[in-house]
Amino acid sequence: MDAWLGALPGGLDARQIPAATLARRHPAPKLCGRAARAEGTAPLCYADLVMTVDHATAPAIDSEVLDALQERMERIIAGDSPNAGRFCGYCYARLDLEEQRCPVCGRSTLDVTPVARIPRDALRVYNAHRRKMRLWVNLFAYLGILLAVLLFIVMIVFLPNPWVWFSVPVLFFGSWYLANLLGGGLGAYLGGRQGVPLRAARWRELLERRAAGENLDT
Ligand SMILES: [Zn+2]
Repeated sequence: MDAWLGALPGGLDARQIPAATLARRHPAPKLCGRAARAEGTAPLCYADLVMTVDHATAPAIDSEVLDALQERMERIIAGDSPNAGRFCGYCYARLDLEEQRCPVCGRSTLDVTPVARIPRDALRVYNAHRRKMRLWVNLFAYLGILLAVLLFIVMIVFLPNPWVWFSVPVLFFGSWYLANLLGGGLGAYLGGRQGVPLRAARWRELLERRAAGENLDT
């Protein structure tokens, strides 16, 4: 790898680029399929080099790790996926039996020892986001249904026969449409706005406790 590291413009050594910068440019190591090009003698562009270096060394930044794992953690919280097996010792992503590098955070199992189950407090990090999201999505979905019912009543009161019969499909289709529109749109937006920083704060607390040597399972 050293032979092509010198190809950076301006004599810049890729190893001097902060890991966070590399991760920001190419946050998902598992998506990088171009690392193999580094083995050839063809000149590499800066992006190739950054990707390859990132793929090899730089961990993904935590906000993207948390986003990537939210759905999987929710399945475990709901009991749809077992909390047993082999998990990354840093981010708790599930690892295959022989996997030596976490596909989500990019850390090597040599640096961070895998664990057999995800600590309850780590699942609570994701549950904080889930609860905020559910609260706002449900709230706005019910608001959508309420608006459809109000529209239905207005149509019943003001429309003459036979137009008044249009109020029935408006009630059923409208409540479904407005619930999805408001719940999935505005509700999800507000849920994310509150859930993401809350989850990040809980994650930082967890990292601090882990760094202090606390056993999270007790
Ligand atoms: Zn990981």
